[in-house]
Amino acid sequence: MNDKLATQWARIRARLRSEYGETAYKSWLKPLTLDGAADGTVRLRVPTRFMRNWIESQYANRLSTLWASENPSITTVEIDHVGNRPANAQDMAVEVADLAPANIQEEGSLSLDISAPLDDRFTFERFVVGKPNELAFAAARRVAEAEAVPFNPLFLYGGVGLGKTHLMHAIAWHISQNHPQKKIIYLSAEKFMYQFIRALRYKDTMAFKEQFRSVDILMIDDVQFIAGKDNTQEEFFHTFNALVDQNRQVIISADKSPAELDGIEDRMKSRLGWGLVAEIHSTTYELRLGILQSKAEQMGTEIPSKVLEFLAHKITSNVRELEGALNRLVAYASLVGRDITLETAQDVLHDLLRANDRRITIEEIQKRVAEHYNIKLSEMHSARRSRAIARPRQVAMYLAKQLTTRSLPEIGRKFGGRDHTTVMHAVRKIDELRSTDAGFAEDVELLRRMLEG
Ligand code: ADP
Ligand code: MG
Repeated sequence: MNDKLATQWARIRARLRSEYGETAYKSWLKPLTLDGAADGTVRLRVPTRFMRNWIESQYANRLSTLWASENPSITTVEIDHVGNRPANAQDMAVEVADLAPANIQEEGSLSLDISAPLDDRFTFERFVVGKPNELAFAAARRVAEAEAVPFNPLFLYGGVGLGKTHLMHAIAWHISQNHPQKKIIYLSAEKFMYQFIRALRYKDTMAFKEQFRSVDILMIDDVQFIAGKDNTQEEFFHTFNALVDQNRQVIISADKSPAELDGIEDRMKSRLGWGLVAEIHSTTYELRLGILQSKAEQMGTEIPSKVLEFLAHKITSNVRELEGALNRLVAYASLVGRDITLETAQDVLHDLLRANDRRITIEEIQKRVAEHYNIKLSEMHSARRSRAIARPRQVAMYLAKQLTTRSLPEIGRKFGGRDHTTVMHAVRKIDELRSTDAGFAEDVELLRRMLEG
């Protein structure tokens, strides 16, 4: 492997570490090793399939963006796992086997302090309220301030980086300050699963159940994680019911509404929707500007309002990216001793700005490509393999890879639930055809320009 690639990878790792924090980095990103790169594809490896899937679903987009900005010749990031375990097996044996090397490092029996640490920046005071999050915020405050459980559960949902975890921590801070005797557990669904599996392994499930069922407030973050994990779900369901029955407050977050949670049992979905369900919507310009102003003030840095407006206008994906952009800008300006201006912002953030510029959706691409080749839109999802259909479909997959930040599995799913390897194959095939057939290359180029224009 060449030095240049290794250097680029080192820089990307440093970025990931600062963006996601030490804990996430250590658990998921640090174990990634660089295998090599060829034909625009960089290959990364992790020890287990379980980790691969998790990284694929949580970090693949960011990995692609970072690689593309470090090395423009990279168009695809492939993540593989070292072992070779059967696909789709969801039984507990596999859940345990997958977790074993990576995540169950602690020795001894179940730890007494089961709750995850809280981030002290995540308070109500630091949460900027706007139209998109006002219901979620009001509901969170209500739960935090109420003497009796107002609704059970409180279910918060919305896309990544929109403030779900922030609100949950804020509730926990508030309650722990005003009622220090109350027992609160805050945990990601992922950690819940580890704890559960560990308890099984140490034959300590009684203590496990005991701990969870004796809390006053249970918060489980990112519950979508236990989709398809049947045993963990079962245990979670019992814990949930036991607490709700005893009138203890339960607070859940997820990336989707209860009804839309795939891979979660129906009885669970229905119970999750019993209390108050509050969506956190995508940010508006006003909210983004408000958040930037508040963060700039907290950092004690003078930033021209033109620059804040520019960022609020350009970085629309989520609050986490917005914060990241601001941090980077401030760090850069102070390091090189430059004033923060529009030019500095454009300079320092060019990769982020570019990623946020691309707002093309896979649906748009499918529609355009189908029109262009005069086939039915439904053929994009169909199983038919005749060349007249399959080729346009491959072109659409190719363009989806080039023009969106979607990962290969996500793209596959949008094309009638195809596997990520099918998408990879399509991308390679179209690349090959473009280099051998000038007419075809022009065709694809034309489509691309239409979509980007
Ligand atoms: P989620 O859990 O929904 O993925 P987080 O709660 O982790 O998102 O939020 C991502 C980052 O954005 C955090 O640093 C958080 O403090 C910040 N953030 C999100 N929404 C707001 C808001 N309304 N006001 C201030 N900061 C916010
Ligand atoms: Mg979160």
